[in-house]
Amino acid sequence: MDIYTPAKRSSIMSKIRSTDTKAEVRLRKALFAFGYRYRKNVRRLPGAPDIVLPRFAYVIQVRGCFWHAHDCRRAHRPNSNADYWNPKLARNVERDVKADRALRAAGWRVRVVWECEIQSAAGLKDTVGLIVTDLPRSPMPAPQGLRHISNDRVRCLFGVRPSQDLAPPREPR
Ligand SMILES: [Zn+2]
Repeated sequence: MDIYTPAKRSSIMSKIRSTDTKAEVRLRKALFAFGYRYRKNVRRLPGAPDIVLPRFAYVIQVRGCFWHAHDCRRAHRPNSNADYWNPKLARNVERDVKADRALRAAGWRVRVVWECEIQSAAGLKDTVGLIVTDLPRSPMPAPQGLRHISNDRVRCLFGVRPSQDLAPPREPR
């Protein structure tokens, strides 16, 4: 039995934020510290991905375990109101699958990071390590090259404009 009434449970759940979660902010800070510059919540891409590194044609989806139905303890569902939560969460998962597929089809690399994976400092470090390994090195210049360039400048350099289609910017030759 859920310890809360359905109304109270709904109010608690609605306060779980779906964007700019703590985990996401920590990951962004870590990437920034490594010299990576990103754009966040890019609405023109399918599913408005959380973190986008246009320079690397790379998208990071930070997923909250509850809202995106991760197979872990954090994703534990309230016992009450299953008729409400199950279809709602199933729709979220379906949306995620579609968005990731559309992004990949448009040439983006997509890495999904679960909230629970970056909860601890060690987990965060491992995840950042994996992402850094993922990112293409050549023929792109080292990420340090982006350090003193603003996001706007990155957008100019690599031709990422809101009006453009979904494809990532081409690699410079
Ligand atoms: Zn999880």
